[in-house]
Amino acid sequence: MTLNQEDIKRFSKMIEVADNIVLLSHFNPDGDAMGSTVALYRFLENIGKKNLTIIYPNEYPHNFSFLFEGVNHIISSNALLTAKQAISQADLLIYMDLNKISRTCEELEPTLQNLTTPKVVIDHHIDPEQFDIVFSDSKASATAELTYKIIKQIDAKKIDIKIAQAIYTGICTDTGSFSYSCSRRDCFDVVAELVELGLEIAPLKRQVFDLSSENRLKLLGYLLSEKLRVFPENKAAYISASKQELKQFNFQKGDLEGVVNYCLKIEGIEFAALLSERQDRIRLSFRSTNPMIDVNKFSNQYWNGGGHILAAGGTSYLSLQETEQELEAQIKNNLHELK
Ligand code: 5GP
Ligand code: MN
Repeated sequence: MTLNQEDIKRFSKMIEVADNIVLLSHFNPDGDAMGSTVALYRFLENIGKKNLTIIYPNEYPHNFSFLFEGVNHIISSNALLTAKQAISQADLLIYMDLNKISRTCEELEPTLQNLTTPKVVIDHHIDPEQFDIVFSDSKASATAELTYKIIKQIDAKKIDIKIAQAIYTGICTDTGSFSYSCSRRDCFDVVAELVELGLEIAPLKRQVFDLSSENRLKLLGYLLSEKLRVFPENKAAYISASKQELKQFNFQKGDLEGVVNYCLKIEGIEFAALLSERQDRIRLSFRSTNPMIDVNKFSNQYWNGGGHILAAGGTSYLSLQETEQELEAQIKNNLHELK
């Protein structure tokens, strides 16, 4: 994908004149949300910008803490007033890894929607809403891939090893370590350039992907042996985790990351879901291996969510049991009608 040079010029100018820049990403920040925001933050710092803040709507998994050394960031669920204050003082807002402002959170959205502050989006989800500048490439493996291309155009010399680590974190998490969403050469080209900058892949991959607490491993074992439901005739499988079960294994944020994909290890399964019970809602993750089963559409139509064709998320306000029943009915009746 070639970037629009006019947009790059306008973006550079906006950065140049801004005194106070806030970067925002989506609820339940993932490796790409963090990798892309931290990479841009460090780049802006390297080109001399002083007042920089990243805002995440809620906590991130602790295995990503290594990214944040010296990075000024706010978790708005822990510090809503501080986050709102930072937003009100900003003269440039950069949204990353989200296509709609509503993907931040209910507490911040009204404040953000009412602003006249210039706003830019850098993202790889389908159908971005209106921003002053839209850098959107739904074929990009990760927002981090697109972010790298943008900062390289602005000033390639200012890309250092910490930026390389953050970009790699975004790409390797959003592609499941180069297993999906990487059908173009672009993401490999970017990674090759990161390696040339001195990036060491093995320790980073271990930090981001492989390390697991004992509780997390035990939770995974329990869910696979006790909670996996398979519907071979419908080529579907799902796993659900109740609040009580999560508590039993001392659930920490991020412990369910990747669990949905286990369903797809079964031969013939093309649709997978993970249901996890939270305080007042059920979070759903959907995965598909068949583009004819478009989980973005499915989640959007039935589960107040969206995402990508092969990976999406949603929310249910029914009980866990009712959500399971509803999902099972959909699996049996209308998954294949989505075509
Ligand atoms: P996950 O299942 O890993 O939470 O999300 C999979 C993908 O769907 C990610 O790209 C994520 O950004 C997107 N996604 C997750 N939840 C939602 C949601 O509620 N709404 C929308 N529009 N996208 C979501
Ligand atoms: Mn992403």
